[in-house]
Amino acid sequence: MDVTRPLTRRDVARSMAASAASLTFPSPSLAQSATGVVVIGGGFGGASCARALRRIDPKLGITLVEPNRSFSACPFSNEVIAGLRSQDRQQFTYDRIAAEGIAVVAQAAIRIDPQSRTVGLADGGTLAYDRLVLAPGIDFRFDALPGYDEAASTRMPHAWKAGAQTMLLRRQLEAMDDGGVVVLAVPAAPLRCPPAPYERASLIAHYLKARKPRSKIIILDAKDGFSQQRLFESAWKELYPGMIERVALSQGGRVTSVDPSTNTIVTDFGDYVAGVANVIPPQKAGRIAEIAGAADHTGWCPIDPVSFASKLVPNIHVIGDACIAGQIPKSASAAHAQASACAAAVANLIAGKSPEMPRLNGACYNTVAPGYAFSLSGIYQPRDGQFIEVESTTSPVDAPRDVREREARDAENWFRTITVDAFG
Ligand SMILES: Cc1cc2nc3c(=O)[nH]c(=O)nc-3n(C[C@H](O)[C@H](O)[C@H](O)COP(=O)(O)OP(=O)(O)OC[C@H]3O[C@@H](n4cnc5c(N)ncnc54)[C@H](O)[C@@H]3O)c2cc1C
Repeated sequence: MDVTRPLTRRDVARSMAASAASLTFPSPSLAQSATGVVVIGGGFGGASCARALRRIDPKLGITLVEPNRSFSACPFSNEVIAGLRSQDRQQFTYDRIAAEGIAVVAQAAIRIDPQSRTVGLADGGTLAYDRLVLAPGIDFRFDALPGYDEAASTRMPHAWKAGAQTMLLRRQLEAMDDGGVVVLAVPAAPLRCPPAPYERASLIAHYLKARKPRSKIIILDAKDGFSQQRLFESAWKELYPGMIERVALSQGGRVTSVDPSTNTIVTDFGDYVAGVANVIPPQKAGRIAEIAGAADHTGWCPIDPVSFASKLVPNIHVIGDACIAGQIPKSASAAHAQASACAAAVANLIAGKSPEMPRLNGACYNTVAPGYAFSLSGIYQPRDGQFIEVESTTSPVDAPRDVREREARDAENWFRTITVDAFG
């Protein structure tokens, strides 16, 4: 295995010249990356992986490629939508990562050549790698739901990538008349954070109950069952009676098209005209994974669960929402756990050793009202080429209120810990 091929002087010079204006960290660090790992995507997976690699090997050249100057976190963005939290608390910069000697290149990766092991950047620069970690999160299948494209998302926000979309949905809720109907369209699995649509419906209900009590929420769902369903439904009965109506797949809940000009959402069983339409479209791995050849016909990236190596392209590892790996969910918690295990595997491979068998912990908290949350946690291990869940714990359905309060505090602590670990 060639793990020592250096960036050529031409590569470095071209990349530095092209990227100089956009480098968050000054150029010397890029020159230090004479051999090493390039990580694409500075979200929960990529940022955590870059930092874990730095901790494992202080001498390894590590480059993090991310076009945005700061990261907008999705966990707790439903609280922002419901007016319970400010968007500022969701933003994280890359300054700390850069200060640790990781070259942060503020560019989008637009090309990957697995033969020459190079990454092409939007500004024309090129980076060479020994190993590449792809952590680009998700993109939307704008061809999968007739009527819904990027332009439609400015009228019918998905808010499934955080930031501007989160704020758009919040403003639409604030502008809606009392008595208006919020329609939330949920796609079939696999999707980013499977319980988050129901957390969102809960927190929107909390907002409407206080501000627009004649309003209601309709969830049009392309699934019959969903994660932590009994817990959500019992909380809805207790906190928001009569406010949330869910139409499951077998009741005609699958959305077949939308019309943004009239805010209409169409199913096989009827049309819904929304006061606010929150349309979460079907998803796939971030586009760069497809460009790299790492995504298969499903749109997701199959990996070896021990090393996170792509099953399709050599020297590329895929983590986070973009990979498909058996039972492990698409969550920040899972992306973060995969990041540490992937960093260890990559460091071992570079040192000529075999990767160790990972054991990943994932915890997912759902907040249905301030001070009221429940959780699902699991442990995942590779078996027969896939991750399988070997242990799982869910909050009890009939827990007293102080348990829900404690879980709400645990959720805040979880978010603090994971964001400090990813962004410093
Ligand atoms: C409403 C909502 C609530 C959620 N709540 C929770 C929760 O409570 N707990 C939980 O565990 N998970 C939660 N999640 C899920 C969580 O946000 C994702 O699973 C997680 O962000 C996945 O991490 P990732 O690194 O794969 O992708 P991301 O965190 O999305 O990061 C991907 C990064 O890659 C960058 N990128 C993409 N393409 C390129 C390119 N070509 N070049 C360079 N960079 C690129 C992007 O700009 C982005 O910064 C929630 C999601 C939503 C939508």
